[in-house]
Amino acid sequence: MKKWLLEKRWRIVLAGFLTVALPLVGITIFVYLQVISQFKELGLEENQAFFNLAAYHLEERINNDISAGTIFASRPQIIEALEKGDGVTARAHLRDLIQNLPNMERAAITLPKAVMFAEYPENPEALGMDFSFRDWYQGVSKKWVPYVSDFFLREVQPRRYLFVIAVPIRDQSGKIAGVLVLQPKEDYLKNVLGPMHTGKSFIYAVDRHGNLIYHPEYRLDRIVDFSKIQAVDGVKRGLTGTKQGLDPISNEPIISTFRPVKWGWGLVMQRPVKEVFHRAREIAVGLVLLAAAFLVLGGIAAYKGAGLLFSSHRLSLELREKEIYEREMKEKLRTELDEHLRTGRKLAETMAELERSNRELEQYAYVASHDLQEPLRKITSFISLLEKRYKDSFDEEGVKYLHYVVDGAKRMQTLINDLLAYSRLGTQGKPFLRTDCNEVLDRVLADLDKPIKNRGADITHDALPTLMADELQLGQVFQNLVANAVKFCRDPRPRIHISAKRGAEGWLFSVSDNGIGIKEEFFDRIFVMFQRLHTRAEYPGTGIGLAVCKKIIERHGGRIWAESEAGKGSTFYFTIPDRQASK
Ligand code: ADP
Repeated sequence: MKKWLLEKRWRIVLAGFLTVALPLVGITIFVYLQVISQFKELGLEENQAFFNLAAYHLEERINNDISAGTIFASRPQIIEALEKGDGVTARAHLRDLIQNLPNMERAAITLPKAVMFAEYPENPEALGMDFSFRDWYQGVSKKWVPYVSDFFLREVQPRRYLFVIAVPIRDQSGKIAGVLVLQPKEDYLKNVLGPMHTGKSFIYAVDRHGNLIYHPEYRLDRIVDFSKIQAVDGVKRGLTGTKQGLDPISNEPIISTFRPVKWGWGLVMQRPVKEVFHRAREIAVGLVLLAAAFLVLGGIAAYKGAGLLFSSHRLSLELREKEIYEREMKEKLRTELDEHLRTGRKLAETMAELERSNRELEQYAYVASHDLQEPLRKITSFISLLEKRYKDSFDEEGVKYLHYVVDGAKRMQTLINDLLAYSRLGTQGKPFLRTDCNEVLDRVLADLDKPIKNRGADITHDALPTLMADELQLGQVFQNLVANAVKFCRDPRPRIHISAKRGAEGWLFSVSDNGIGIKEEFFDRIFVMFQRLHTRAEYPGTGIGLAVCKKIIERHGGRIWAESEAGKGSTFYFTIPDRQASK
Protein backbone atom coordinates (compact mmCIF):
# COMPACT_ATOMS: atom_id res chain seq x y z
CA MET A 1 0.00 0.00 0.00
CA LYS A 2 2.73 2.42 1.09
CA LYS A 3 4.92 1.59 -1.89
CA TRP A 4 2.04 1.91 -4.25
CA LEU A 5 1.24 5.36 -2.92
CA LEU A 6 4.82 6.55 -3.18
CA GLU A 7 5.15 5.32 -6.74
CA LYS A 8 1.93 6.97 -7.70
CA ARG A 9 2.77 10.20 -5.97
CA TRP A 10 3.14 12.17 -9.15
CA ARG A 11 0.01 10.71 -10.60
CA ILE A 12 -1.91 11.72 -7.51
CA VAL A 13 -0.43 15.22 -7.64
CA LEU A 14 -1.51 15.42 -11.27
CA ALA A 15 -4.99 14.14 -10.43
CA GLY A 16 -5.27 16.67 -7.61
CA PHE A 17 -4.07 19.41 -9.89
CA LEU A 18 -6.54 18.46 -12.59
CA THR A 19 -9.34 18.30 -10.03
CA VAL A 20 -8.56 21.92 -9.28
CA ALA A 21 -7.51 22.92 -12.78
CA LEU A 22 -10.27 21.41 -14.91
CA PRO A 23 -13.19 23.15 -13.22
CA LEU A 24 -11.13 26.31 -13.19
CA VAL A 25 -10.45 26.07 -16.90
CA GLY A 26 -14.14 25.28 -17.52
CA ILE A 27 -15.30 28.23 -15.46
CA THR A 28 -12.74 30.48 -17.10
CA ILE A 29 -13.84 29.50 -20.59
CA PHE A 30 -17.48 30.01 -19.67
CA VAL A 31 -16.81 33.40 -18.07
CA TYR A 32 -14.54 34.28 -20.98
CA LEU A 33 -17.25 33.60 -23.54
CA GLN A 34 -19.85 35.44 -21.49
CA VAL A 35 -17.63 38.42 -20.93
CA ILE A 36 -16.53 38.51 -24.56
CA SER A 37 -20.08 38.46 -25.87
CA GLN A 38 -21.18 41.05 -23.31
CA PHE A 39 -18.29 43.31 -24.10
CA LYS A 40 -18.74 42.88 -27.84
CA GLU A 41 -22.33 43.91 -27.44
CA LEU A 42 -21.22 46.77 -25.26
CA GLY A 43 -18.65 47.76 -27.86
CA LEU A 44 -21.27 47.74 -30.57
CA GLU A 45 -23.70 49.73 -28.46
CA GLU A 46 -21.03 52.24 -27.65
CA ASN A 47 -20.18 52.42 -31.32
CA GLN A 48 -23.80 53.04 -32.21
CA ALA A 49 -24.24 55.71 -29.55
CA PHE A 50 -21.17 57.54 -30.74
CA PHE A 51 -22.34 57.30 -34.31
CA ASN A 52 -25.80 58.64 -33.48
CA LEU A 53 -24.15 61.56 -31.78
CA ALA A 54 -22.21 62.32 -34.96
CA ALA A 55 -25.40 62.21 -37.04
CA TYR A 56 -27.26 64.56 -34.69
CA HIS A 57 -24.31 66.85 -34.69
CA LEU A 58 -24.34 67.05 -38.50
CA GLU A 59 -28.10 67.64 -38.70
CA GLU A 60 -27.89 70.31 -36.07
CA ARG A 61 -25.13 72.16 -37.88
CA ILE A 62 -27.14 72.30 -41.09
CA ASN A 63 -30.32 73.28 -39.24
CA ASN A 64 -28.37 76.10 -37.60
CA ASP A 65 -27.24 77.35 -40.99
CA ILE A 66 -30.77 77.09 -42.32
CA SER A 67 -31.95 79.15 -39.34
CA ALA A 68 -29.23 81.72 -39.96
CA GLY A 69 -30.28 81.89 -43.63
CA THR A 70 -33.95 82.24 -42.70
CA ILE A 71 -33.18 85.11 -40.31
CA PHE A 72 -31.08 86.82 -42.99
CA ALA A 73 -33.82 86.36 -45.58
CA SER A 74 -36.27 88.25 -43.42
CA ARG A 75 -34.06 91.38 -43.29
CA PRO A 76 -36.24 94.32 -44.54
CA GLN A 77 -33.26 95.88 -46.34
CA ILE A 78 -32.93 92.76 -48.49
CA ILE A 79 -36.59 92.80 -49.41
CA GLU A 80 -36.35 96.50 -50.11
CA ALA A 81 -33.27 96.04 -52.30
CA LEU A 82 -35.08 93.31 -54.23
CA GLU A 83 -38.09 95.52 -54.74
CA LYS A 84 -35.86 98.41 -55.90
CA GLY A 85 -33.60 96.15 -57.99
CA ASP A 86 -30.65 97.43 -55.89
CA GLY A 87 -28.07 94.67 -56.42
CA VAL A 88 -25.26 96.67 -54.80
CA THR A 89 -27.03 96.90 -51.45
CA ALA A 90 -28.04 93.25 -51.70
CA ARG A 91 -24.39 92.23 -52.30
CA ALA A 92 -23.26 94.35 -49.35
CA HIS A 93 -25.66 92.43 -47.11
CA LEU A 94 -24.49 89.16 -48.59
CA ARG A 95 -20.89 90.07 -47.73
CA ASP A 96 -22.02 90.80 -44.20
CA LEU A 97 -23.74 87.41 -44.06
CA ILE A 98 -20.69 85.50 -45.30
CA GLN A 99 -18.52 87.28 -42.80
CA ASN A 100 -20.85 86.13 -40.01
CA LEU A 101 -21.23 82.54 -41.24
CA PRO A 102 -17.77 80.99 -41.07
CA ASN A 103 -18.97 77.76 -42.75
CA MET A 104 -20.20 79.43 -45.89
CA GLU A 105 -18.04 80.51 -48.79
CA ARG A 106 -20.58 81.99 -51.14
CA ALA A 107 -24.06 83.46 -50.90
CA ALA A 108 -26.39 84.54 -53.66
CA ILE A 109 -29.88 85.99 -54.09
CA THR A 110 -32.05 85.17 -57.09
CA LEU A 111 -35.33 86.58 -58.16
CA PRO A 112 -38.38 84.39 -57.58
CA LYS A 113 -37.85 82.73 -60.98
CA ALA A 114 -34.21 81.80 -60.23
CA VAL A 115 -32.59 84.64 -62.16
CA MET A 116 -29.32 85.66 -60.48
CA PHE A 117 -29.80 89.02 -58.71
CA ALA A 118 -26.74 89.43 -56.50
CA GLU A 119 -23.82 87.32 -55.46
CA TYR A 120 -20.97 87.51 -52.99
CA PRO A 121 -18.11 87.11 -53.81
CA GLU A 122 -19.09 88.86 -57.02
CA ASN A 123 -19.39 86.80 -60.20
CA PRO A 124 -20.45 89.04 -63.11
CA GLU A 125 -20.78 86.01 -65.41
CA ALA A 126 -23.64 84.58 -63.46
CA LEU A 127 -25.61 87.78 -63.08
CA GLY A 128 -28.94 87.57 -64.85
CA MET A 129 -28.49 83.84 -65.48
CA ASP A 130 -31.50 81.60 -65.02
CA PHE A 131 -30.85 78.78 -62.51
CA SER A 132 -34.32 77.33 -62.46
CA PHE A 133 -33.01 74.03 -63.78
CA ARG A 134 -31.04 73.50 -60.60
CA ASP A 135 -32.24 70.97 -58.09
CA TRP A 136 -32.04 73.57 -55.29
CA TYR A 137 -34.55 75.81 -57.08
CA GLN A 138 -36.91 72.99 -57.91
CA GLY A 139 -36.64 71.83 -54.28
CA VAL A 140 -37.25 75.20 -52.63
CA SER A 141 -39.98 76.30 -55.09
CA LYS A 142 -41.96 73.12 -54.48
CA LYS A 143 -43.38 74.26 -51.15
CA TRP A 144 -41.38 77.47 -50.60
CA VAL A 145 -39.70 76.22 -47.51
CA PRO A 146 -35.91 75.99 -46.89
CA TYR A 147 -34.34 73.24 -48.92
CA VAL A 148 -31.02 71.39 -48.77
CA SER A 149 -30.07 70.44 -52.28
CA ASP A 150 -28.75 67.26 -53.81
CA PHE A 151 -25.04 67.18 -54.39
CA PHE A 152 -24.02 68.31 -57.82
CA LEU A 153 -20.79 68.85 -59.73
CA ARG A 154 -20.13 72.56 -60.06
CA GLU A 155 -19.80 73.74 -63.60
CA VAL A 156 -17.24 76.46 -62.91
CA GLN A 157 -13.68 75.99 -61.71
CA PRO A 158 -12.60 74.75 -59.28
CA ARG A 159 -14.81 71.79 -59.90
CA ARG A 160 -16.32 70.41 -56.73
CA TYR A 161 -19.09 68.03 -55.76
CA LEU A 162 -21.16 70.19 -53.48
CA PHE A 163 -24.59 71.09 -52.15
CA VAL A 164 -26.34 74.35 -51.34
CA ILE A 165 -29.01 75.54 -48.95
CA ALA A 166 -31.88 77.43 -50.55
CA VAL A 167 -34.12 79.65 -48.37
CA PRO A 168 -37.18 81.52 -49.77
CA ILE A 169 -37.33 85.33 -49.28
CA ARG A 170 -40.87 86.71 -48.72
CA ASP A 171 -42.04 90.31 -48.65
CA GLN A 172 -44.22 91.74 -45.89
CA SER A 173 -47.38 90.35 -47.54
CA GLY A 174 -45.83 86.84 -47.61
CA LYS A 175 -45.24 86.84 -51.36
CA ILE A 176 -42.10 85.23 -52.67
CA ALA A 177 -39.60 88.00 -53.35
CA GLY A 178 -36.55 85.90 -54.11
CA VAL A 179 -34.34 82.94 -53.04
CA LEU A 180 -31.26 83.04 -50.82
CA VAL A 181 -28.67 80.45 -51.81
CA LEU A 182 -25.87 79.56 -49.37
CA GLN A 183 -22.90 77.56 -50.60
CA PRO A 184 -20.95 75.85 -47.83
CA LYS A 185 -17.18 75.86 -47.81
CA GLU A 186 -15.37 72.81 -49.22
CA ASP A 187 -14.48 71.49 -45.74
CA TYR A 188 -18.00 72.04 -44.37
CA LEU A 189 -18.66 68.36 -43.67
CA LYS A 190 -15.04 67.76 -42.75
CA ASN A 191 -15.34 70.33 -39.98
CA VAL A 192 -18.39 68.55 -38.56
CA LEU A 193 -17.37 64.91 -39.01
CA GLY A 194 -13.55 65.14 -38.93
CA PRO A 195 -13.27 65.74 -35.15
CA MET A 196 -15.25 62.56 -34.65
CA HIS A 197 -12.39 60.43 -35.89
CA THR A 198 -10.66 58.33 -33.26
CA GLY A 199 -7.72 56.02 -33.80
CA LYS A 200 -8.14 54.30 -37.12
CA SER A 201 -11.88 54.84 -37.28
CA PHE A 202 -13.57 57.52 -39.33
CA ILE A 203 -16.95 58.61 -40.64
CA TYR A 204 -17.86 59.22 -44.25
CA ALA A 205 -21.05 60.47 -45.81
CA VAL A 206 -22.88 59.66 -49.02
CA ASP A 207 -25.77 61.23 -50.87
CA ARG A 208 -28.96 59.53 -51.99
CA HIS A 209 -27.13 58.08 -55.05
CA GLY A 210 -24.42 56.47 -53.00
CA ASN A 211 -21.82 59.03 -54.10
CA LEU A 212 -19.34 60.24 -51.54
CA ILE A 213 -20.12 63.67 -50.11
CA TYR A 214 -17.43 63.44 -47.48
CA HIS A 215 -14.55 61.03 -46.96
CA PRO A 216 -11.29 61.82 -45.17
CA GLU A 217 -9.33 60.01 -47.88
CA TYR A 218 -10.92 61.48 -50.98
CA ARG A 219 -10.84 64.88 -52.62
CA LEU A 220 -14.26 65.39 -54.11
CA ASP A 221 -13.41 67.20 -57.35
CA ARG A 222 -15.30 64.46 -59.17
CA ILE A 223 -18.10 62.01 -58.42
CA VAL A 224 -16.95 59.03 -56.33
CA ASP A 225 -19.48 56.22 -56.41
CA PHE A 226 -19.61 54.18 -53.19
CA SER A 227 -22.97 52.56 -53.83
CA LYS A 228 -21.39 49.12 -54.30
CA ILE A 229 -20.34 49.06 -50.68
CA GLN A 230 -22.75 47.01 -48.52
CA ALA A 231 -23.20 49.61 -45.80
CA VAL A 232 -23.80 52.34 -48.41
CA ASP A 233 -26.30 50.12 -50.15
CA GLY A 234 -28.09 49.69 -46.80
CA VAL A 235 -28.18 53.34 -46.04
CA LYS A 236 -29.42 54.12 -49.58
CA ARG A 237 -32.40 51.93 -48.81
CA GLY A 238 -33.00 53.91 -45.62
CA LEU A 239 -31.70 51.19 -43.29
CA THR A 240 -29.79 51.48 -40.05
CA GLY A 241 -27.38 48.74 -39.00
CA THR A 242 -23.96 47.23 -38.58
CA LYS A 243 -21.96 45.16 -41.06
CA GLN A 244 -18.73 43.30 -40.51
CA GLY A 245 -16.37 42.99 -43.44
CA LEU A 246 -12.93 43.77 -44.80
CA ASP A 247 -11.57 47.20 -45.53
CA PRO A 248 -11.36 47.44 -49.35
CA ILE A 249 -7.94 49.10 -49.16
CA SER A 250 -6.10 47.60 -46.17
CA ASN A 251 -8.03 44.29 -46.09
CA GLU A 252 -8.28 44.71 -42.31
CA PRO A 253 -11.43 43.35 -40.59
CA ILE A 254 -13.73 46.27 -39.99
CA ILE A 255 -17.14 47.06 -38.57
CA SER A 256 -19.29 49.50 -40.52
CA THR A 257 -22.17 51.18 -38.77
CA PHE A 258 -24.59 53.07 -40.97
CA ARG A 259 -27.69 55.19 -40.71
CA PRO A 260 -29.56 57.60 -42.94
CA VAL A 261 -29.68 61.27 -42.03
CA LYS A 262 -31.99 63.97 -43.28
CA TRP A 263 -31.91 65.21 -46.86
CA GLY A 264 -31.37 61.72 -48.28
CA TRP A 265 -27.87 61.49 -46.99
CA GLY A 266 -26.30 58.58 -45.21
CA LEU A 267 -23.49 58.30 -42.67
CA VAL A 268 -21.16 55.37 -42.40
CA MET A 269 -18.71 54.90 -39.58
CA GLN A 270 -15.92 52.51 -40.34
CA ARG A 271 -13.89 51.14 -37.41
CA PRO A 272 -11.36 48.31 -37.24
CA VAL A 273 -12.83 45.33 -35.37
CA LYS A 274 -9.86 45.52 -32.97
CA GLU A 275 -10.82 49.02 -31.95
CA VAL A 276 -14.49 48.25 -31.38
CA PHE A 277 -13.70 45.23 -29.29
CA HIS A 278 -10.52 46.51 -27.67
CA ARG A 279 -12.12 46.48 -24.25
CA ALA A 280 -13.38 42.92 -24.72
CA ARG A 281 -9.88 41.92 -25.75
CA GLU A 282 -8.31 43.60 -22.74
CA ILE A 283 -10.77 41.87 -20.45
CA ALA A 284 -10.13 38.53 -22.18
CA VAL A 285 -6.36 38.88 -21.79
CA GLY A 286 -6.86 39.84 -18.15
CA LEU A 287 -9.07 36.80 -17.61
CA VAL A 288 -6.61 34.44 -19.24
CA LEU A 289 -3.79 35.86 -17.14
CA LEU A 290 -5.93 35.51 -14.02
CA ALA A 291 -6.79 31.91 -14.89
CA ALA A 292 -3.13 31.17 -15.54
CA ALA A 293 -2.21 32.68 -12.19
CA PHE A 294 -4.92 30.56 -10.55
CA LEU A 295 -3.62 27.49 -12.33
CA VAL A 296 -0.08 28.11 -11.16
CA LEU A 297 -1.28 28.81 -7.62
CA GLY A 298 -3.58 25.77 -7.84
CA GLY A 299 -0.65 23.69 -9.04
CA ILE A 300 1.51 24.83 -6.17
CA ALA A 301 -1.34 24.27 -3.72
CA ALA A 302 -1.99 20.79 -5.15
CA TYR A 303 1.70 19.93 -4.96
CA LYS A 304 2.07 21.24 -1.42
CA GLY A 305 -1.20 19.63 -0.38
CA ALA A 306 -0.16 16.29 -1.82
CA GLY A 307 3.20 16.66 -0.09
CA LEU A 308 1.47 17.26 3.22
CA LEU A 309 -0.90 14.38 2.57
CA PHE A 310 2.02 12.11 1.83
CA SER A 311 4.09 13.10 4.80
CA SER A 312 1.12 12.65 7.10
CA HIS A 313 0.35 9.34 5.44
CA ARG A 314 3.96 8.24 5.79
CA LEU A 315 3.91 9.35 9.40
CA SER A 316 0.78 7.37 10.13
CA LEU A 317 2.28 4.35 8.35
CA GLU A 318 5.43 4.65 10.42
CA LEU A 319 3.36 5.08 13.55
CA ARG A 320 1.36 1.98 12.66
CA GLU A 321 4.55 0.01 12.03
CA LYS A 322 5.95 1.20 15.31
CA GLU A 323 2.75 0.27 17.07
CA ILE A 324 2.81 -3.21 15.54
CA TYR A 325 6.47 -3.58 16.46
CA GLU A 326 5.77 -2.48 20.02
CA ARG A 327 2.82 -4.83 20.26
CA GLU A 328 4.98 -7.71 19.02
CA MET A 329 7.73 -6.79 21.45
CA LYS A 330 5.24 -6.65 24.30
CA GLU A 331 3.84 -10.00 23.27
CA LYS A 332 7.36 -11.45 23.14
CA LEU A 333 8.23 -9.95 26.49
CA ARG A 334 5.05 -11.29 28.01
CA THR A 335 5.77 -14.76 26.61
CA GLU A 336 9.33 -14.62 27.92
CA LEU A 337 8.12 -13.38 31.27
CA ASP A 338 5.56 -16.18 31.41
CA GLU A 339 8.32 -18.61 30.50
CA HIS A 340 10.53 -17.22 33.26
CA LEU A 341 7.72 -17.27 35.73
CA ARG A 342 6.96 -20.84 34.79
CA THR A 343 10.62 -21.77 35.10
CA GLY A 344 10.81 -19.86 38.38
CA ARG A 345 7.76 -21.63 39.68
CA LYS A 346 9.15 -24.95 38.55
CA LEU A 347 12.44 -24.12 40.18
CA ALA A 348 10.72 -23.12 43.38
CA GLU A 349 8.73 -26.34 43.26
CA THR A 350 11.92 -28.34 42.66
CA MET A 351 13.64 -26.47 45.47
CA ALA A 352 10.75 -27.14 47.76
CA GLU A 353 10.77 -30.77 46.68
CA LEU A 354 14.51 -30.92 47.23
CA GLU A 355 14.24 -29.33 50.61
CA ARG A 356 11.47 -31.71 51.53
CA SER A 357 13.47 -34.70 50.35
CA ASN A 358 16.55 -33.32 52.14
CA ARG A 359 14.53 -32.90 55.28
CA GLU A 360 13.18 -36.40 54.88
CA LEU A 361 16.69 -37.69 54.30
CA GLU A 362 17.96 -35.84 57.35
CA GLN A 363 15.03 -37.22 59.30
CA TYR A 364 15.80 -40.64 58.00
CA ALA A 365 19.53 -40.32 58.80
CA TYR A 366 18.71 -39.01 62.22
CA VAL A 367 16.20 -41.74 62.96
CA ALA A 368 18.44 -44.41 61.51
CA SER A 369 21.55 -43.29 63.37
CA HIS A 370 19.58 -42.66 66.53
CA ASP A 371 17.90 -46.04 66.42
CA LEU A 372 21.14 -47.75 65.42
CA GLN A 373 22.88 -46.31 68.43
CA GLU A 374 20.89 -48.35 70.91
CA PRO A 375 21.63 -51.87 69.55
CA LEU A 376 25.17 -50.81 68.77
CA ARG A 377 25.66 -49.62 72.35
CA LYS A 378 24.31 -53.00 73.47
CA ILE A 379 26.71 -54.85 71.18
CA THR A 380 29.64 -52.75 72.34
CA SER A 381 28.92 -53.13 76.03
CA PHE A 382 28.30 -56.91 75.80
CA ILE A 383 31.41 -57.48 73.75
CA SER A 384 33.40 -55.37 76.21
CA LEU A 385 31.92 -57.55 78.97
CA LEU A 386 32.80 -60.66 76.99
CA GLU A 387 36.30 -59.41 76.52
CA LYS A 388 36.68 -58.55 80.17
CA ARG A 389 35.21 -61.75 81.69
CA TYR A 390 36.06 -64.48 79.20
CA LYS A 391 39.26 -63.13 77.78
CA ASP A 392 41.18 -65.96 79.31
CA SER A 393 38.94 -68.63 77.81
CA PHE A 394 39.96 -67.48 74.29
CA ASP A 395 43.20 -68.43 72.72
CA GLU A 396 45.42 -65.79 71.28
CA GLU A 397 43.61 -65.85 67.95
CA GLY A 398 40.22 -65.52 69.64
CA VAL A 399 41.38 -62.53 71.67
CA LYS A 400 42.55 -60.83 68.46
CA TYR A 401 39.18 -61.37 66.79
CA LEU A 402 37.43 -60.14 69.83
CA HIS A 403 39.54 -56.98 69.68
CA TYR A 404 38.62 -56.42 66.00
CA VAL A 405 34.96 -56.72 66.87
CA VAL A 406 35.31 -54.16 69.70
CA ASP A 407 37.25 -51.80 67.43
CA GLY A 408 34.73 -52.13 64.60
CA ALA A 409 31.84 -51.51 66.94
CA LYS A 410 33.54 -48.36 68.31
CA ARG A 411 34.22 -47.08 64.84
CA MET A 412 30.67 -47.69 63.90
CA GLN A 413 29.59 -45.73 66.94
CA THR A 414 31.77 -42.81 65.92
CA LEU A 415 30.37 -42.93 62.37
CA ILE A 416 26.84 -43.00 63.64
CA ASN A 417 27.54 -40.09 65.99
CA ASP A 418 29.04 -38.08 63.16
CA LEU A 419 26.10 -38.87 60.92
CA LEU A 420 23.74 -37.86 63.66
CA ALA A 421 25.58 -34.58 64.16
CA TYR A 422 25.53 -33.92 60.40
CA SER A 423 21.84 -34.59 60.11
CA ARG A 424 21.12 -32.23 62.98
CA LEU A 425 22.93 -29.31 61.32
CA GLY A 426 19.84 -28.24 59.34
CA THR A 427 17.19 -28.91 61.91
CA GLN A 428 18.96 -27.86 65.08
CA GLY A 429 20.76 -24.77 63.83
CA LYS A 430 20.60 -21.62 66.03
CA PRO A 431 19.42 -18.20 64.76
CA PHE A 432 22.11 -15.84 63.35
CA LEU A 433 23.31 -13.40 65.97
CA ARG A 434 26.13 -10.88 66.23
CA THR A 435 29.19 -13.04 66.58
CA ASP A 436 32.73 -11.94 67.28
CA CYS A 437 34.85 -14.33 65.20
CA ASN A 438 37.97 -13.62 67.36
CA GLU A 439 36.19 -15.04 70.40
CA VAL A 440 34.93 -18.03 68.45
CA LEU A 441 38.40 -18.83 67.13
CA ASP A 442 40.02 -18.40 70.55
CA ARG A 443 37.56 -20.94 72.02
CA VAL A 444 38.25 -23.41 69.21
CA LEU A 445 42.01 -23.07 69.66
CA ALA A 446 41.57 -23.66 73.39
CA ASP A 447 39.57 -26.87 72.63
CA LEU A 448 42.30 -28.02 70.24
CA ASP A 449 45.02 -27.17 72.66
CA LYS A 450 46.16 -30.80 73.06
CA PRO A 451 46.78 -31.73 69.38
CA ILE A 452 48.25 -28.32 68.74
CA LYS A 453 50.73 -28.70 71.50
CA ASN A 454 51.48 -32.30 70.49
CA ARG A 455 52.38 -31.23 66.99
CA GLY A 456 54.04 -28.03 68.16
CA ALA A 457 51.88 -26.14 65.66
CA ASP A 458 52.26 -22.39 65.20
CA ILE A 459 48.81 -20.80 64.72
CA THR A 460 48.38 -17.11 63.93
CA HIS A 461 45.41 -15.01 62.85
CA ASP A 462 44.46 -11.49 61.72
CA ALA A 463 41.89 -9.43 63.52
CA LEU A 464 38.62 -11.13 62.62
CA PRO A 465 35.26 -9.37 62.07
CA THR A 466 32.08 -9.40 64.06
CA LEU A 467 29.22 -10.59 61.93
CA MET A 468 25.77 -12.22 61.93
CA ALA A 469 26.19 -15.98 62.25
CA ASP A 470 25.33 -19.14 64.17
CA GLU A 471 28.15 -18.98 66.67
CA LEU A 472 28.26 -22.69 67.48
CA GLN A 473 28.26 -23.75 63.82
CA LEU A 474 30.86 -21.16 62.88
CA GLY A 475 33.03 -22.63 65.69
CA GLN A 476 32.54 -26.10 64.15
CA VAL A 477 33.84 -24.78 60.81
CA PHE A 478 36.96 -23.26 62.38
CA GLN A 479 37.44 -26.44 64.45
CA ASN A 480 37.33 -28.79 61.41
CA LEU A 481 39.55 -26.59 59.23
CA VAL A 482 42.21 -25.94 61.94
CA ALA A 483 42.17 -29.59 63.07
CA ASN A 484 42.65 -30.77 59.44
CA ALA A 485 45.45 -28.28 58.95
CA VAL A 486 47.26 -29.61 62.02
CA LYS A 487 46.51 -33.23 61.10
CA PHE A 488 47.42 -33.27 57.40
CA CYS A 489 50.92 -31.95 57.90
CA ARG A 490 54.25 -33.72 57.77
CA ASP A 491 56.21 -30.63 58.60
CA PRO A 492 57.75 -30.92 62.06
CA ARG A 493 56.43 -27.47 62.76
CA PRO A 494 52.97 -26.92 61.27
CA ARG A 495 52.25 -23.23 60.55
CA ILE A 496 48.65 -22.17 60.23
CA HIS A 497 47.28 -18.70 59.55
CA ILE A 498 43.67 -17.56 59.68
CA SER A 499 42.64 -14.30 58.04
CA ALA A 500 39.53 -12.44 56.90
CA LYS A 501 38.95 -9.58 54.47
CA ARG A 502 36.06 -7.81 52.79
CA GLY A 503 35.15 -9.19 49.38
CA ALA A 504 32.40 -8.93 46.82
CA GLU A 505 30.43 -11.64 48.59
CA GLY A 506 30.74 -10.23 52.11
CA TRP A 507 33.52 -11.54 54.36
CA LEU A 508 36.13 -13.84 52.84
CA PHE A 509 37.88 -16.11 55.39
CA SER A 510 40.93 -18.21 54.69
CA VAL A 511 42.72 -20.94 56.66
CA SER A 512 46.13 -21.72 55.17
CA ASP A 513 48.65 -24.33 56.19
CA ASN A 514 52.03 -25.73 55.17
CA GLY A 515 50.66 -29.29 55.11
CA ILE A 516 50.65 -32.06 52.56
CA GLY A 517 48.46 -30.24 50.09
CA ILE A 518 45.67 -31.65 47.88
CA LYS A 519 45.73 -32.55 44.20
CA GLU A 520 43.46 -30.34 42.15
CA GLU A 521 41.32 -33.24 40.96
CA PHE A 522 40.17 -33.84 44.55
CA PHE A 523 39.17 -30.21 45.29
CA ASP A 524 35.45 -31.05 45.04
CA ARG A 525 35.45 -34.60 46.25
CA ILE A 526 36.84 -33.77 49.72
CA PHE A 527 33.61 -31.90 50.58
CA VAL A 528 31.49 -35.03 50.03
CA MET A 529 30.50 -36.98 53.10
CA PHE A 530 32.78 -39.92 54.05
CA GLN A 531 35.17 -39.07 51.20
CA ARG A 532 38.82 -39.38 52.34
CA LEU A 533 42.03 -39.32 50.42
CA HIS A 534 44.03 -41.41 52.91
CA THR A 535 43.72 -44.57 54.96
CA ARG A 536 42.89 -44.43 58.60
CA ALA A 537 46.31 -45.82 59.32
CA GLU A 538 47.91 -42.80 57.65
CA TYR A 539 45.58 -40.10 58.99
CA PRO A 540 42.72 -40.96 61.36
CA GLY A 541 39.28 -39.58 60.62
CA THR A 542 35.78 -40.37 59.31
CA GLY A 543 35.66 -38.10 56.25
CA ILE A 544 32.75 -36.07 57.48
CA GLY A 545 34.44 -32.84 58.69
CA LEU A 546 34.51 -30.92 55.38
CA ALA A 547 30.98 -32.09 54.50
CA VAL A 548 29.83 -30.56 57.79
CA CYS A 549 31.72 -27.32 56.98
CA LYS A 550 30.10 -27.10 53.54
CA LYS A 551 26.62 -27.62 54.96
CA ILE A 552 27.15 -24.93 57.63
CA ILE A 553 28.57 -22.35 55.21
CA GLU A 554 25.75 -22.98 52.75
CA ARG A 555 23.26 -22.50 55.57
CA HIS A 556 24.88 -19.07 56.08
CA GLY A 557 24.48 -18.30 52.36
CA GLY A 558 28.20 -18.54 51.54
CA ARG A 559 30.56 -20.89 49.64
CA ILE A 560 33.54 -22.95 50.61
CA TRP A 561 36.40 -24.20 48.42
CA ALA A 562 40.02 -25.32 48.59
CA GLU A 563 43.12 -24.17 46.78
CA SER A 564 46.36 -26.06 47.01
CA GLU A 565 49.60 -26.99 45.45
CA ALA A 566 50.59 -30.49 46.40
CA GLY A 567 53.48 -30.37 48.84
CA LYS A 568 53.21 -26.67 49.45
CA GLY A 569 50.21 -26.65 51.76
CA SER A 570 46.58 -25.80 51.23
CA THR A 571 44.26 -22.84 51.77
CA PHE A 572 40.60 -23.30 52.56
CA TYR A 573 38.40 -20.32 51.73
CA PHE A 574 34.85 -19.61 52.77
CA THR A 575 32.54 -16.58 52.52
CA ILE A 576 29.88 -15.28 54.93
CA PRO A 577 27.56 -12.74 53.29
CA ASP A 578 26.50 -9.60 55.19
CA ARG A 579 23.24 -9.96 56.97
CA GLN A 580 20.96 -7.46 58.79
CA ALA A 581 20.98 -7.73 62.60
CA SER A 582 17.25 -8.40 62.79
CA LYS A 583 17.48 -11.66 60.89
P1 ADP B 1 38.84 -36.50 57.86
O1 ADP B 1 39.63 -35.33 58.38
O2 ADP B 1 38.06 -37.13 58.89
O3 ADP B 1 39.56 -37.38 56.96
P2 ADP B 1 37.55 -34.45 56.36
O4 ADP B 1 36.22 -34.46 55.74
O5 ADP B 1 37.85 -33.43 57.36
O6 ADP B 1 37.71 -35.90 56.90
O7 ADP B 1 38.61 -34.40 55.21
C1 ADP B 1 38.45 -35.12 54.04
C2 ADP B 1 39.78 -35.36 53.40
O8 ADP B 1 40.32 -34.13 52.88
C3 ADP B 1 40.82 -35.80 54.31
O9 ADP B 1 40.77 -37.22 54.45
C4 ADP B 1 42.10 -35.34 53.66
O10 ADP B 1 42.52 -36.31 52.74
C5 ADP B 1 41.72 -34.11 52.99
N1 ADP B 1 42.14 -32.93 53.78
C6 ADP B 1 41.35 -32.19 54.61
N2 ADP B 1 42.02 -31.16 55.13
C7 ADP B 1 43.26 -31.18 54.56
C8 ADP B 1 44.43 -30.38 54.70
N3 ADP B 1 44.44 -29.29 55.45
N4 ADP B 1 45.54 -30.74 54.01
C9 ADP B 1 45.51 -31.82 53.20
N5 ADP B 1 44.45 -32.63 53.03
C10 ADP B 1 43.32 -32.31 53.72
